[in-house]
Amino acid sequence: MKIWMSFDMEGVAGIVDWDQCRPSGSARYEIGCQLMLDEVNAAIEGAIAGGATEIVLNDSHGTMANLDPRRIAGGASYVSGRHKPRYMMQGLDDSFDAAFLVGYHGSISGRPSTLSHTYNPEVFSAARINGELVGESGINALVAEHYGVPIAFVSGDSVTWDETRPFAPDAVAVITKESITRFSAANLHPDESCRLIREGAERAVRQVGGDGMRTPELTRPATLDLEFQTGDMAEVATWSRGAERTGERSVRISGDDLLAMFTSFVAVTYITRQAGGR
Ligand SMILES: [Zn+2]
Repeated sequence: MKIWMSFDMEGVAGIVDWDQCRPSGSARYEIGCQLMLDEVNAAIEGAIAGGATEIVLNDSHGTMANLDPRRIAGGASYVSGRHKPRYMMQGLDDSFDAAFLVGYHGSISGRPSTLSHTYNPEVFSAARINGELVGESGINALVAEHYGVPIAFVSGDSVTWDETRPFAPDAVAVITKESITRFSAANLHPDESCRLIREGAERAVRQVGGDGMRTPELTRPATLDLEFQTGDMAEVATWSRGAERTGERSVRISGDDLLAMFTSFVAVTYITRQAGGR
């Protein structure tokens, strides 16, 4: 039983501010990384208890090298570092039985969710798949759907789960906190969050190995519509293969090949960084 796990930071219990999430040499970031490591390890331990025999982690936050590799539980291998072509989905393929999304957060366009954004908060103001507003979880689900791998486990705040559910119809969800604003939340104690994650991960893997879990079966050809903060960004985005201008501040990526769509999206995220802020 092979499990692939993408983990982010903003949805971890106790995280409410950017200074906990960005390498600065501060104790706040070090504690943030510890909180994230504990939740990741809880998910690994739960998955192993449920029958997982191989686990691959993909660090999906910031510069994507946030963990002390020596402290990762369960002998999981660790995909880390910048400029990964599949970004938050690096390493997933059809050899895996299930995908986990740990520490995920809400979209820039949705209800208040702690540190909400959709990939780059300085660039994207909204994303839609087949007409519905989505966050990172929905965009990333394009890759899981391409490989036919169900998203079996999700942790984060309740907004994150609401936004992910359409792409993970049978997943086990763990709510780590209730967001109050983008910069405040009522958090579970980290011990309690980890306990729930351990239990939920075990249940998820047991279900994958038992009755199985469904994938969302997205309608194809699919569309990924992106809205930007400025028209300059939309213009630069069209320099990426597959991105067509649909408005002053918007482009569309579409097709039957969901992996090709995601690859175009990654190209858009990389190239729009050059178009500056607002
Ligand atoms: Zn992040």
